[in-house]
Amino acid sequence: MTKRLVFLGPPGVGKGTQAKRVAEEHGIPHISTGDILREEVRQETDLGKQAKSHMDSGGLVPDELVVAMVARRLEQDDCRDGYLLDGFPRTIGQAHAFENEIGGDDDPGVDKVLYFAAPDEVLIRRLGGRRTCPSCQAVYHVETMPPKEDNLCDRCGAELVQREDDQPDAIKQRLRTYRELTEELIGHYRQAGTLVEINSTGSVEQVAELVRRALAT
Ligand code: AMP
Repeated sequence: MTKRLVFLGPPGVGKGTQAKRVAEEHGIPHISTGDILREEVRQETDLGKQAKSHMDSGGLVPDELVVAMVARRLEQDDCRDGYLLDGFPRTIGQAHAFENEIGGDDDPGVDKVLYFAAPDEVLIRRLGGRRTCPSCQAVYHVETMPPKEDNLCDRCGAELVQREDDQPDAIKQRLRTYRELTEELIGHYRQAGTLVEINSTGSVEQVAELVRRALAT
């Protein structure tokens, strides 16, 4: 059976953390458009240069750039038996482009959409305390998931950073962007019958258990 999953939800909801684990358990690639775009920015590619200002301000990178980027990624061999899309689609336009390019009339290219939900105050607390490894993309939190050694990545030893878009003003803008452009995808996938809602307020392990159950059926 192919496993084609989409993880949907507001910034800071913890979907990236869950996505890494699920992709590993199911042997499918974890495709995070945010991670791919950050790498493009780091390498100063044409796409990275076009994306940077949108990302830093908490807005979205234009649909056509992101859709082309995801289409290229899905052509790779490791996506044959499934994939986990984390942070894509993020607009109705992206969802339609995805459906038209990947699936046909009867096949939207997605078997299940997990929608992670948590109240704004939880999101703001998680984003504000988040630290990331610029080298291997591991994610920590100053209170709930600190690294073993102060501000150094457990996995590769690099110095952790706070993402530009995890600063207070950008956080507010990202939440606004989510409400304005991404939230309507919930209705879109609910109507398609592929949506499962996950209460993402609890600990990483509690949420992981809800995810396991949702994917077992
Ligand atoms: P994330 O790591 O998923 O929070 O993404 C970081 C930033 O990358 C977002 O705030 C957007 O600027 C950009 N981005 C990631 N995924 C998308 C997407 N599907 N469409 C447009 N912009 C995206």
